[in-house]
Amino acid sequence: MRKHASVFAVLVLLLAVVPLRAQSPTVSQSELSAIHQIREEGFDPKTSKIMEIISYLSDVYGPRLTNSPDIKEAAKWTTDKMNEWHLANVHLEPWTPFGRGWSNERTSVQVLSPRPFPLIAYAKAWTPGTDGPITAEAVFAPITKEEDFAKFKGQLKGKFALTAAIPESPERFDAQAHRYTDAELADLATQPVLAAQSGQEDRIAQFRATREFQLKVQKFLLDEGIACWIEPSRSDDGTVFVQQGGGRDKEKDPPAPCRVAVANENYGRIVRTLEKKFPVTMLVDVQNKFYDDDLNSFNIIGEIPGSDKAKADEVVMLGGHFDSWQAGTGATDNGAGSAVMLEAIRILKTTGVKMRRTVRIGLWTGEEEGLLGSRAYIKQHFGDPNTEDPATHLIKVTPEHAKLDAYYNIDNGTGKIRGVYLQGNEMVAPIFNAWMVPFHDLGMTTLTIRNTGGTDHLSYDAVGLPGFQFIQDPMDYDTRTHHSNMDVYERIQEPDMKQMAVIVASFVYLTANRDEMIPRKPLPKAVPVRQFP
Ligand SMILES: [Zn+2]
Repeated sequence: MRKHASVFAVLVLLLAVVPLRAQSPTVSQSELSAIHQIREEGFDPKTSKIMEIISYLSDVYGPRLTNSPDIKEAAKWTTDKMNEWHLANVHLEPWTPFGRGWSNERTSVQVLSPRPFPLIAYAKAWTPGTDGPITAEAVFAPITKEEDFAKFKGQLKGKFALTAAIPESPERFDAQAHRYTDAELADLATQPVLAAQSGQEDRIAQFRATREFQLKVQKFLLDEGIACWIEPSRSDDGTVFVQQGGGRDKEKDPPAPCRVAVANENYGRIVRTLEKKFPVTMLVDVQNKFYDDDLNSFNIIGEIPGSDKAKADEVVMLGGHFDSWQAGTGATDNGAGSAVMLEAIRILKTTGVKMRRTVRIGLWTGEEEGLLGSRAYIKQHFGDPNTEDPATHLIKVTPEHAKLDAYYNIDNGTGKIRGVYLQGNEMVAPIFNAWMVPFHDLGMTTLTIRNTGGTDHLSYDAVGLPGFQFIQDPMDYDTRTHHSNMDVYERIQEPDMKQMAVIVASFVYLTANRDEMIPRKPLPKAVPVRQFP
């Protein structure tokens, strides 16, 4: 028995040691001491700047709709700060074309009778206003199919039109904010093997048909001469999700009427009152401005030059989108990501930790309209996912493509980092696994081979460059803040923000000092049309 026990003990020892050996590369003592400095600078309330940055970006300069006067002022504040921190090569890099700018100057929406009450209401972007205060009747005109147009022809002139059904308000008991559980993270770490998907084309066709019908309704309402289109939001509890209602291209996009999104609870009350045959009178005063003088937008760039002559022309990037929608202040989407990246590069510069490669921040605009800023940047610098190189039959890339090491992105709200989406790049897993070890105590433990969509790392991935979005706790991002009037400073969690800035700064630091660049997936083939999920 004793002999068996000692053999068993040796086996256990071996098992315990072998995985540690297999886990190389590890983080070195000197790297750990740099990470210590980064943590001190990022966590100490006396030195952290992250809540000040996010407050300026949201409270003072938000919202930051692309090409609005707000975003231009926000960019000026940001580049001033970057210069104050002594970053190098700070500049706005123009890209074109985006389209005209838009801003909302005033929104006042009231029901006057039969019972007066104020509405929680927001103008849809790129729509015209009311041209002064208008008092008129509200009309419930449900238009869901072609035959409905005839029913309401000639009845809507000068009226406020409510065409949507009252959205459902299902009972809700779950907490709206959520952190990943251990079980959810374990599930996220597995690779799902999917069968061929069916029904995808049907869904796309259905989406197109709905969109086309919606444009028909819009044209009908405009031709009928309504005063304003009053629409419900998909959420509840006074939260209103609002995006655009008109187009940025004055020449090509169909014209839109005044369009206002209102809280479900307000919308429902008006419709139920009208259904009981009480006339409802409303007062609507919406002032919107268009800016046609400059149709171009910009990305915000700044650098810390590399300290090693042999590697300084290689670049590690960190970034996120700077623009937002207009109803809140763009605090979680994506003031949070912008503030994290700014704080991360400030920490790296202030601590003076040595970095062999050049580190570059890129804050993008036009993300909400289709990753436009980062796509333009990729095309200007690295390659075009839509153009084939005749020699290789793969996408055409620039010489700069060989020098971009990796890109790290934050754009999923205020929730802290729990891991990294590898975007299908297995080769990087052992590296990131080792780099996560110093952050296990901050809740970062999970790598997933899966892709995540919807934001600017995809622009890098599309040209075969290592672009990564971190796994973040969901919090109340999808339920409450993302694209809503509740996307505000109060939904920002300070400990999460600090954790993200420290981890991003450390990952950038480790990348910038690694002997080799981050391994890449093979260069993709050119795609005829940009396919961004
Ligand atoms: Zn976003």
